[in-house]
Amino acid sequence: MRKVIIYDTTLRDGAQAQGISFTVDDKLKIAKAVDRLGVSYIEAGNPGSNPKDLEFFQRVKEIGLKHAKIVAFGSTRRVNVPVKEDANVQSLLAADTPVIAIFGKSWDFHVTSVLKTNLEENLCMIYDTIEFFSSLGKEVIFDAEHFFDGYKANPQYAVKTLKAACDAGASSICLCDTNGGTFPNEIQEITKKMVEEIKIPIGIHCHNDNGMAVANSIIAVQSGADHVQGTINGFGERCGNANLCTIIPNLQIKSDYYCIPEENLKGITSIARFVSEIANVIHDERAPYVGGSAFAHKGGMHIDAVFKNPISFEHINPELIGNKRTILMSEVAGRSTILKKINEIDSAITKDSPEAKLIVDRLKELEHEGYQYEGAECSFELVISKILGKYQPFFDLNEFKVIVNEPAVNSINSSAMIKIGVGEQAEITAAEGCGPVNALDNALRKALERFYPEIREMKLTDYKVRVLDSEAATAAKVRVLIESTDGKDVWTTVGVSTDIIEASWKALVDSIEYKLIKDRSL
Ligand SMILES: [Zn+2]
Repeated sequence: MRKVIIYDTTLRDGAQAQGISFTVDDKLKIAKAVDRLGVSYIEAGNPGSNPKDLEFFQRVKEIGLKHAKIVAFGSTRRVNVPVKEDANVQSLLAADTPVIAIFGKSWDFHVTSVLKTNLEENLCMIYDTIEFFSSLGKEVIFDAEHFFDGYKANPQYAVKTLKAACDAGASSICLCDTNGGTFPNEIQEITKKMVEEIKIPIGIHCHNDNGMAVANSIIAVQSGADHVQGTINGFGERCGNANLCTIIPNLQIKSDYYCIPEENLKGITSIARFVSEIANVIHDERAPYVGGSAFAHKGGMHIDAVFKNPISFEHINPELIGNKRTILMSEVAGRSTILKKINEIDSAITKDSPEAKLIVDRLKELEHEGYQYEGAECSFELVISKILGKYQPFFDLNEFKVIVNEPAVNSINSSAMIKIGVGEQAEITAAEGCGPVNALDNALRKALERFYPEIREMKLTDYKVRVLDSEAATAAKVRVLIESTDGKDVWTTVGVSTDIIEASWKALVDSIEYKLIKDRSL
């Protein structure tokens, strides 16, 4: 097993993604999580361009990372400025990290057109800066910016930039596909040549502008690169960086490389979700390995085959990376899957029972109306109970009224009145809320609490609205998904209507009924 060093730059390159901004506390939390994964390096910021990074570098020393070395990132000295007087070099020094990553130009076009200097001065800038830090005993990585584009334009000069870094005492060199447009065959050919020609270890840093950052990183490793730079979830500028959550399992589970301690692989799905959470980005459920859909089966024949043998439709065992298999409940799931669900409620039903046909037909009807039970199996269980005659209503709705008052006062803008019946007793209550659904939810709970005190334990944790036929504009059907919890379990229910309040009401009632049924069946 060949060791591949994993170099995480979520906190530096990942933070350059559109819509992502980390506070110092966020960065500390992510550093801890990425360290728990067992990566070797964490590139945490550019102290020269971002003063709040200096606070991070101070505080990270106190959290005691177990695996990773902290890296400060910055550019070579400026044109015609002595290295010791360069402000950026001074900030890198102030960061006081054991490792420094210095980026410099490898593409002659960038030297003459962007830096506006001559090719010789650029080589001196690389040499001086790396020599300054390596002579202080620091481990220095040279990030050869635009290396692949540079090599294609002027291979002799691109190689000279690497040799300047090497001569100045760099510990390793990272070849960067900064514009993210290089193809795997080019990465392969050029990386192989550099591994042969340069006497210190070579790494790879890819961007995903052509959708090949992961493929490019893998082929660079296969061509001799011994370290891979990337970010958790592929966060990064434009189309993102190479996604470490794809690269690590590809290298360690599907190929014969060692990246992180074997026992930590199981943590990768939860760490990916955690970083999405901190970044305040909706987690990509279609992401390979760590997405919620990565092992979700919906087609009936696929589900059937997966039950017989998971390798029929799963390329790896999801448990290896801490993900899980999901069987989605839908019309296309097929009778055997629906029957499994029915049997949880009534084990006497077989696939030939008339009730099974009734339930499948009802599911088709409801899906046609716009219901989707893939994420809301609790509502589907209630549909089954109703058809099997196992459903006892907990209350009857006589009527409700909702009034919206704008402008809001302290964000309260709605009130709801509700009249329900429980057995022989009637109850009328009113409540206020932030928006009509919240007011209705408050009024319903208030009315029911007298009869079912356990309702106090539950609360709504998520509320999602999806417009189903947007051409119908404001008369369109909407699907409302409500997620609830009572601190022990989490469940999701669904409602559909052309009226958003009615759709929400249906999902709300299912949610409360589910809780009451659940508590009674314990
Ligand atoms: Zn980059």
